[in-house]
Parts: sequence; structure tokens; C-alpha cells
Amino acid sequence: MSEAQATEKPATETHKFQAETRQVLHLMIHSLYSNREIFLRELISNASDALDRLRFQAIKDDSVYEGDSDLSIEIETDGDAGTLTVRDNGIGMNRDDVMENIGTIARSGTRAFLDRLSGDEQADAHLIGQFGVGFYSSFIVADRVTVLTRRAGDEEAAGVRWESDGGGEYAIERIARAVHGTEVILHLKDSAREFLDDWNLRSLVTRYSDHIGFPIRMQESVKDEESGEERTEWKDVNKASALWTLPKSEIGDEEYQSFYKYLSHDLDDPLCWAHNKVEGTQSYTTLLYIPGTAPMDLMLQRDERTGLRLYVKRVFIMDAAQQLLPHYLRFVRGVVDSDDLPLNVSRELLQENELSGKIRSAVIRRSLDLIGKTAQDDHETYERFWTEFGAVLKEGIVEDFGNRERIAPLLRFASTQGEGERQDVDLAAYGERMQEGQEAIYYITAENYRAAANSPHLEVFRKKGIEVLLMSDRVDEWMMAYFHDFEGKPFKSVAKGDIDLAGVGAVEPETAADAGDDSPAIDDEVLKRAQEALGDQVSEVRTSRRLTDSASCIVLGDQEMALHLQRLLEQAGQEVPDSRPALELNPSHPLVGRLVRESDPARFEELSVVLFEQALLSEGGSLEDPAAFVRRVNALLTR
Ligand code: ADP
Repeated sequence: MSEAQATEKPATETHKFQAETRQVLHLMIHSLYSNREIFLRELISNASDALDRLRFQAIKDDSVYEGDSDLSIEIETDGDAGTLTVRDNGIGMNRDDVMENIGTIARSGTRAFLDRLSGDEQADAHLIGQFGVGFYSSFIVADRVTVLTRRAGDEEAAGVRWESDGGGEYAIERIARAVHGTEVILHLKDSAREFLDDWNLRSLVTRYSDHIGFPIRMQESVKDEESGEERTEWKDVNKASALWTLPKSEIGDEEYQSFYKYLSHDLDDPLCWAHNKVEGTQSYTTLLYIPGTAPMDLMLQRDERTGLRLYVKRVFIMDAAQQLLPHYLRFVRGVVDSDDLPLNVSRELLQENELSGKIRSAVIRRSLDLIGKTAQDDHETYERFWTEFGAVLKEGIVEDFGNRERIAPLLRFASTQGEGERQDVDLAAYGERMQEGQEAIYYITAENYRAAANSPHLEVFRKKGIEVLLMSDRVDEWMMAYFHDFEGKPFKSVAKGDIDLAGVGAVEPETAADAGDDSPAIDDEVLKRAQEALGDQVSEVRTSRRLTDSASCIVLGDQEMALHLQRLLEQAGQEVPDSRPALELNPSHPLVGRLVRESDPARFEELSVVLFEQALLSEGGSLEDPAAFVRRVNALLTR
């Protein structure tokens, strides 16, 4: 295309927001109204990120400063115009950046997020907080927002002006802009004029942003000493000393909390935190936080994780969550500041650098210590931690063999001796309650808590008062495939392999037979015929030492994958290793008694199949031909 043919772009273009962006905006404005001052923290946080990024670029080439390296954030009000402006001389944005960053709420979870909203305002506000509100929180207080920006290093004419009233559209045009960086101008709603008040603004800035690492300036009127005339001057409002560089003794809880919110964009307080300085041959500081609630996409296996900011000598380098935190600690947030890494450290270098390896180990250890300390000191908080992140921490058992002994005591389970569904039994407590002669830690995995708690496999354990851990998180079956023992005691699934409890536990003499110790064995001939009736659906039919009440149950081999997990994989279209379970029969059950006495071959076969199908059903399985099952049971009932 020749120059002459090229059509000039119109000066101003209007674009529609994605439908989802509109929806999120609408909700946010509505449900965060009582929390609306957070917009200021979000804008300051964005500005400070932009300054961090410019400083990082300047390490390689300080011409990006364009002669202006006094990095700062300015906050300015205009009472007549009703505007509040947050300005930074950071990295700025070009047109594409603006379209991509401000024109969409481009988060992978947006749809899922919207689907989870309930209409209950409080619950929704909470979810929105987890989602992260960012720049868009401006529209809670402003009915029009103008952004003026230019990317540092670009020519003056490459400036961009963006504007929207937060309805369906935004306008974007090119402007000439002499300075680099971004200026966000909020045209405040009448109901938000309190944010024009100088004193009010100053107290918000100190509350939210005292310890970000850049000066935040506002204008102050000063009297000229010579002439006596009033004039205005930009003055620092905040302390501008990065929080983690201060001694612990000088930092209050509230400061730690507000720094967390600035760092994580979380609306809620963190659960707990740990701040450590290491000095010696290598010096670094870590400030680590555990959030109060899990972010929405915590369970996704994506690897573009953020949340741990790496600084070198107070200069922000990059988000290095992926390099410095293992996957199973992906909920940890915070800052690492090293005095010894080179300023030009790259992601690749971080992966293999010996020093960053040390820092990574330290971050893991400190995180686990923080979790451990919370478990020890504060039961209630730990319960909240466990509810939010327990299932993620369990991945560490598989992922981080080296720290398994630190992780194992942090695990909590539901148990036959715990309080219902609550996961509050730890392995040490289990160990203390083990019965005389009991050598293994018993557990069962199932699809959900009820399936675990009601499983026939527990019958003999209940009778004998032997505790069984009830596991129903998705990761449990996977974790247990790698988790073989705790403090020398092996784990044993009550649903797999042989169980021999003879001599274990306190049993009342008259119930010994019930408990399976001396229960009569079923005649081998009967077992063989039952197995023939079931064909290759089972590997074996045998007398059960597990059952006291139910007639039958399915038992897998020690190394086989639990049936609920097999089903899950099958549904996901994955290949499932071929496994054939054993069928166990309870000799003291009347139905099994009937089987033993049955002389008619057709009826014998029918009964065998019913016993097998019942066992499958009580595992939560489904039958290939449910109607046939119903026919068989009805035949039995009416006979
Ligand atoms: P978040 O900060 O959580 O990514 P925001 O909606 O607040 O979400 O901002 C979206 C993106 O817009 C930022 O990631 C950043 O790339 C860009 N951005 C926002 N504010 C600024 C700013 N002051 N300077 C440069 N870029 C900015």
C-alpha cells in the first residue's frame, strides 16, 4: 500500500469494553462502595510499579529517564474542576499497552469469577477483592476517568489519551506529551468530593502507602520568608522507606498489614507474616505473607505465578515467584531483597545461580516455619489457613521430598475420631491415640467426606476403636501414593490389600467374633463358585476380615489406584491402568449365609452378582446396567 492510499486514522477512536469488563465494572462500583477509598491505594500501587519498572530498565540504559530520574508520585486536586490526579514519572504506556491493559480486564478467570457471584453483596465484595480491582476501582468514585501517558523513551508525539465514563465505551487518541509516565485524572462524583479534601487525602496516603519505596508528593502552601508571599511547593507526604528495610522493632502490625495490601492488591488482611534479615557472607531480607483467603485461580496448575517480588539492593527486578517459590507454596506473597545478586540478573540466571538457590531454600524454610508457628500458636488462624490452602500444601509431600519432614506435621485430616468433616487431626495426635499392637496409620480416600465416613471398610476399625483418617481432597490419593510413613509408622489404606487386626486394640470378649478376629471362614468351594459367577470383574472372592455389618466390599491391591480416582480420570478421558479388585464377603451376614446355602446354580449366580454390585455402589461407583441390578434385587426381595 502506498502512502497516498493509506487512510488516516481518525483522531479519536471509540472502543467498546468486552461484555465481561462491563459486568465486572458494574459490580465493583456497586459492591465496593463502602470500601471506596481503596481506589487510591490501587492507583498509587500501579504508579509505584511503573516507577519500579522504569528504574529496572534504566539499569541497562539510563537514557530512558530522559534526564528525569527523580522518581516520584504526585497527587493533586482541583476543587473547581472536581478532579483528583495521581501522576507518576514511571515507565508509562504506549497505545497498545493502553488498549491491552486498561481497555480490558484481561484475566483468565473473569468468566469463572462472574459465575461465582451470588448477588449477596458482602460475599460478592469479598470475591471482587480476591479477583483484584486495580485501575478500575477508580470508577467507584469517579464518573469519568482520563489517562494521559507516554512510554519512557518514545518520542513526544507518541503520547496517548484515554477516557471513559465506565459505561460501555472508552475513547483513545494520540496526543503530544512532553513528559514520560502516566497521569490518571479522576472526575469525582458529587458523592465522592471528600477526596478533594487535603487533610483527608494525606491521612489516606500515610495509612495506605507510607512505606512504599518512592516519595508521594502533594502541594503545600508555604510562606516565602523574604517576601512574605504565599506560594505552593511539592512536599513529601509519606516516609518513602521500603518497609522491609526497617528494623522489625519499628514496624507495627498495621504497617505490615497495609504493606501487604499494597503488595498483593488484596482487600483483606493477611493471616500472618514473617520478616527476616540474613546478614553474613550473603545478605538478604525476606518479608513473607500468607493471605487470608485463597485467590480464585489457586488450584489451577498454570505456571505464570506472581506474588513474590525480587529486589536487588532495594531496586525492583522482577516477580520471581516461579523461580523462588515451589508450586506447592504458590499462595505465599512477599518481598525478597538481596544485596548480592547482580542487578542485571535474568530469569535464566536465577534458575541456576547458586546464590538464588540458597535464597529459594531459605524462602521455603521460612514459609514452612511461618506456617508451623501459626499451627502451634494460634489454632483458629491455622484452621483458616488449612481450609484455604491445606489441599495445596499437601502437594508438597509429593513435590518436595527434602522438606517432607517439615511438611508432614503441618497436615490436618478428618478422622473417625475427629469432629465430623473438620480436618483437624494431625499425625502426631493420631500416633498418640494408636491402639496397643497397632503398627500402621490407617486411612481411607474417597470422593467426598460422606463416602469416606460411611465406607464399609471402616466397620471393623470402628468396632475395635482404631482411628482411621478420612481423606476426601482430590490430591489425597495422589499424595498417599508417595507418602509411605510418618515417624517410622507406615500408612495403610483400609480399602486396599489384606487387613489383619488380630490382637490389635481393646476388644470386648463377647464382640471378638463380631470384630472379625475369629469369624468363620467361608468354604473355599463357595468362594470359587462366586468368583466364576463374576468372571473377570474381580481378581478374587475371599472372606472379609474388615466387615462386621455390611455383606460385601470391594478391595484393591496395595498399589492400585482408588476407584473414585479411576472414575475421575476416566471422565477426564485419560487412560486408567487396568486393575481388578477383590470382592470380600462377610460370613456373618445373612445374605452371605444365604449364598453359602444356595443350591440352585442360577440363583447362586444372581446373588453373587448382587453382592458385587452392592459393594460397587457403596464405593460410590455406578453400575453398567442399573436396571438389571434392580430386577435382581426385586427378585430376591419377593422370593
Ligand atoms: P494490575 O495492576 O493488577 O495488573 P490494573 O487494572 O490496576 O491491574 O492495571 C492493569 C495494567 O495497566 C497494569 O498491569 C500495568 O501494566 C498498566 N498500568 C496501570 N497503571 C499504570 C501506570 N500508572 N503506569 C504504567 N502502567 C500502568
